[in-house]
Amino acid sequence: MPTTYRDVVSRALRFREDPKAVELLNKVVSSVSSRVYRVLESYPYLEYLAKEVSEVKRYSIANLDRLLKQAMESVERVGGRAYLAKDSEEARRIVGEIVGEGQIVIKSKSMITEEIGLREYLEERGNEVWETDLGMLILQYLEGERPTHPVIPVLHVSKERIIRAFKSRLGLKDLDEGSPPEKIVELARRILREKFIKATIGITGANAFAADSGAVVIVENESNARLTSALPPKHIAVTSIDKIVPTLGDAVKVAFVQAAYTGLYPPTYINIIAGPSSTADIEYERVVGAHGPREYHVVFIDNGRVGALDDPVMMDMMRCIRCGRCLIECPAYQSFGPSWGSGPYSGPMGVGWIYITRGIDEAGPLSMLCMHAGNCVEVCPLSIDLPSIIQRIKSMYVSRIMGSEES
Ligand code: SF4
Repeated sequence: MPTTYRDVVSRALRFREDPKAVELLNKVVSSVSSRVYRVLESYPYLEYLAKEVSEVKRYSIANLDRLLKQAMESVERVGGRAYLAKDSEEARRIVGEIVGEGQIVIKSKSMITEEIGLREYLEERGNEVWETDLGMLILQYLEGERPTHPVIPVLHVSKERIIRAFKSRLGLKDLDEGSPPEKIVELARRILREKFIKATIGITGANAFAADSGAVVIVENESNARLTSALPPKHIAVTSIDKIVPTLGDAVKVAFVQAAYTGLYPPTYINIIAGPSSTADIEYERVVGAHGPREYHVVFIDNGRVGALDDPVMMDMMRCIRCGRCLIECPAYQSFGPSWGSGPYSGPMGVGWIYITRGIDEAGPLSMLCMHAGNCVEVCPLSIDLPSIIQRIKSMYVSRIMGSEES
């Protein structure tokens, strides 16, 4: 974890010394960028939708208190249980109590669960935890690696490394150096299939949360979030409070825009989950727990976000929908890739989120790599003013260093 500017620079330089990682980064950057432009050209309504979402998010953060209260009441109304955690520790404890010990837990990709270190915590409590998104499963078995992009978490990892990790850590002996991606996917699918069936707990994140209906909205292509939220008897949705929007219609719009600006549009699946599964087919009596979960838990997490609302520059970060578009067009990210970040967050938006969730000591040194090219604000679907946010973090960091040198 970088703590000084020197650490940040040396990590960035080490990344440049890995030709395979640099080659993969270049490949992903150019293909995602052109895919996004193609999507926006093919579906012109998406840019209008992005403007709408921008305003919805502005309204949502201005009315966060009220929407959070409404969201929690809605969860209870649809038969779920709602919780509010002020920080990572409380969030881990709440989820830990719902999960218990000795369970098989399946998880879909979620930055907030990475932010709070949930998988490691549940494993320490004696649970068997499986990432079901293929990228996250790869990371789970690669020592010391972390997600490098909100949507493409292993963009810097070669197929050869994945094969080595899966052979040694997952016991997939059928793989060899020349195995094609299809074979890796097929073998991972076979392993996970059994876990999907046996799991007692499914944990998902949220792309958006609808305050009016208590519904979590998740956009994906692999179908693992669908299975994770539908097969186990308990579903726990973990979401940061900035994901709350007023209505289910707004939440679905966020999902559309998020998918579009990652170049994955139309998304294969948009999941809407509003309560435990149920049926009323026998004499119109509602019975909870049909084929899907019997329990629906939603954990809302603050972790520094409410504090960000006190700062007129920083509060704009709260509109971010984690599409990762700003990373792809940023010259610093194009050069240093995932090494420019910490925890689950990287790139320009990563600097903002690291500041909000972990403070100036971690975000300050990272902010110094920003070149202020301004591409991020140009391409962000919500026009979030990242250059001003990063400038603000830089100023705070520099004042802090100067202050400590003077004292
Ligand atoms: S700052 Fe904008 S472009 Fe970057 S991840 Fe957030 S919404 Fe997407």
